[in-house]
Amino acid sequence: MPLNYHMPLYRPPSEGNNLIIQVTLGCSFNQCSFCAMYRSKVYSQRPLAEVVCDIQQAAQSLPDARRVFLADGDAFCLPTHDLIAILDALQAALPKLSRVSCYTTPSNILNKSMDELRLLKEKGLKLLYLGIESGSNLILKKITKGASQQSIANAMLKAHEAGLKVSGTVILGLGGKHHGQEHIDGTIELLNRAPITYLSTLQLHLEPDMIKEFQSKYGEPFEIPNEGLFLKNSCV
Ligand code: SF4
Repeated sequence: MPLNYHMPLYRPPSEGNNLIIQVTLGCSFNQCSFCAMYRSKVYSQRPLAEVVCDIQQAAQSLPDARRVFLADGDAFCLPTHDLIAILDALQAALPKLSRVSCYTTPSNILNKSMDELRLLKEKGLKLLYLGIESGSNLILKKITKGASQQSIANAMLKAHEAGLKVSGTVILGLGGKHHGQEHIDGTIELLNRAPITYLSTLQLHLEPDMIKEFQSKYGEPFEIPNEGLFLKNSCV
């Protein structure tokens, strides 16, 4: 029987063929000015008993699943003891499990101790998807990312030291017509100072009902670099 997900449900493209277990609803931050993904949800943690039930149900249909993605927007926000309980339940239900991954914010990583990160890695959490968006402090402020180049670099360094892989995304077009060079320079600077396992780029896309908020938080008129740039981006 298929799992009953709380919609909308998002996952990275590379997790498209993998089992998704929804452990949180929404995003604990939910304030990035370009992101409409979880605006319809209030962040909450799903009851552990329900998550374990989903895992056992999914294991009946997909007993050979090797990779699992934990949704929603920043499942790494969960307290470490709950993540460990979920990872233990996955290991018990899926004998061929080789990788568990989830979205994270920089704060989620920084809020955990090195011992906690190492323990989570030992328990099977191998890959964190991190929305970098930009390495420029100017752009990060304009998009109300709630992070700076320093905090993103610290989070990436900490995850790397714990042995966790990081898949980061940068959003093209966030500099608009006037701050493109700052966006590029800051991002290169960040990527030169912090280790990353995988890097991908997305192109800026604003949902129609986000344009006003994005423009207002940007603090100056935002001009699209070229007309083709309001395309699709996904997130975190
Ligand atoms: S970009 Fe990520 S951290 Fe920001 S609001 Fe969207 S889901 Fe949350």
